[in-house]
Amino acid sequence: MSAEKEQTVVERVKSADYFFRSLVLVAALSIGAILMLCCYGTYKIYLNHTIATAEEDAVQVSEALLKHEEVNIMEGDKEKGFTVTISPEELPHVDQRLRQFLRPFGIVKIKIYNEKRTIVYSTDSAIIGKHDKNNVRLVRALLGFVDSKLEKSEDVLDMAEEKVIEVDVVETYVPIIADDGRVIGAFEIYMDVSRYTSDVRNVVVSTFAILLVVLLSVFGCSFFVIRRMTERLREAEAELKRIAVTDPLTGIANRRQIIHRATEEFARQMRRKQQRTAVPSLGIIMADVDHFKQINDTYGHSAGDDVLREIASRIGSVLRQYDAVGRYGGEEFLVILSETELEETWHIAERIRRRVADDPVVVDNQVIRVSASLGIATVLAGEADYRPALERADKGLYLAKTAGRNRVMCAGDEQCRGERSRPKLEAVKG
Ligand code: GH3
Ligand code: MG
Ligand code: MG
Repeated sequence: MSAEKEQTVVERVKSADYFFRSLVLVAALSIGAILMLCCYGTYKIYLNHTIATAEEDAVQVSEALLKHEEVNIMEGDKEKGFTVTISPEELPHVDQRLRQFLRPFGIVKIKIYNEKRTIVYSTDSAIIGKHDKNNVRLVRALLGFVDSKLEKSEDVLDMAEEKVIEVDVVETYVPIIADDGRVIGAFEIYMDVSRYTSDVRNVVVSTFAILLVVLLSVFGCSFFVIRRMTERLREAEAELKRIAVTDPLTGIANRRQIIHRATEEFARQMRRKQQRTAVPSLGIIMADVDHFKQINDTYGHSAGDDVLREIASRIGSVLRQYDAVGRYGGEEFLVILSETELEETWHIAERIRRRVADDPVVVDNQVIRVSASLGIATVLAGEADYRPALERADKGLYLAKTAGRNRVMCAGDEQCRGERSRPKLEAVKG
C-alpha cells in the first residue's frame, strides 16, 4: 500500500470516532423529535376526538332541550316570525327544569341567546338580560354554524365575570333554528370533559413511555453494533499505524519512519537553539553489514534474515532510551542520536560495532561471524537540514568499507582528521 493510501485509510479510521459521536447526537435528537411529534400527534387526535364527541353531545342535548322546552323559550308563529324569549314568571320554572334536565349529561353551564345576542337564560342568573356584543363565535352560531372549543377550567370566565368553572369544558354554540328555517338564537353549552382530558393525558403518557422503550431498544442495539464496528476500526487503525512505521523483518522503524524521526529531531534541535545558545548537535550513524551477500550465499537467505534481525536487536540494545534506529535499506541501518556531539556519536558507534562483531550469530546451530562498518556525522552549526550530515555519515561508511571494514569512520566534520581519514577521536581511543 502506498504511503498516501495508508494515510487516507488512517484518516478515515480516525474519523470513525467523530462519526460515532455525531451518530449519538443525531440519534438523541431523532428520539426527541420522534417522541415529541408522536406525543403531539396523539394528543391532537384525542383532543379533536374529545371535542367532536362533546360537540355531537351538545347538538343532541340542545335538540332535545328545544323539543322539551320549545313552548317556554320560544314565541311567535310562522307569519309573524319566531323569537327566543322567556317570560319572567316562567324563568324560575324553566331554570329548575333545565338544571334537572342537564345534570345527567355532564353539562356544567348553559346560556340561551336570542338573535339580538341578549342572554335570555343562563344557569348564572346574574347575567340574564346582558348583551354579548363582541362574541365572534356567537355571531357564527347565529349564522347557523355549530362552533366548539376546548377551554381549560381556569380559562372559562364569562363576559360578566362569573366565577371560574373548575373543570375542563368544551364550549359549544348551537344555533336555534325555528320551524320557518330562520336562526333565531343560540345555545351556549359547557360540557364537562375533565374525564376525557385526563384520558388524553394517560394515552399521551403511555404513548411516550412505549415509544421511548421501543426507540431506546432499537437505537441501543444499533449503537452496540456500531460501537463494536468502531472499536474494530480503531484496532485496525492501530495495526495500520504500526505497519506503516515498522520494518516487517526486524520489527524496528522502517526507512520512512527513521527519516521522519531525523526530521523531527532536527526540528526540535532548531527550536531548542532558538531558546538557548549551547545546544549539543544531532548525531547520525550509518551502519552496513560487511560481506552480507557472502553470508546469504553461504548460509542461505533465511539465515541471512535471522542475522539481520539479530543485528537490529544488538544495535537497539546499546542505544540510549531517546535514540532511534531504523532499517535504512537491505542490510543498512540508520541511527539518530538526539543532542549528541561527534565524540559521543563515535563512542556509541564503536559500542555498536563491538556488539555486532564480538559475538557470532548462531542460526540453526551454525556459527556466523558478522561485522559492520559504520559512518558517523553530526549536524554542523548553520546547517538548515539533517541531510548533509546523513551524506557525510554515508561518506564515512564508504571510508570505513574501503579502509578494510569493521570500523567507524567519519568524513567532513571538523573533528575528522583530513580526507579519507579515521576521526581523531578514534585515533585517540585506538
Ligand atoms: P559490503 O561489505 O561491501 O557491504 O558487502 P555486501 O555483500 O554486504 O554488500 P552488497 O550490497 O553487495 O550486498 C548486500 C546484500 O544484502 C545483497 C542482498 O541480497 C542482501 N539483502 C538485502 N536485503 C536482504 C534481506 O532482507 N534479507 C537477506 N537475507 N538479504 C538481504
Ligand atoms: Mg554490506
Ligand atoms: Mg549495503
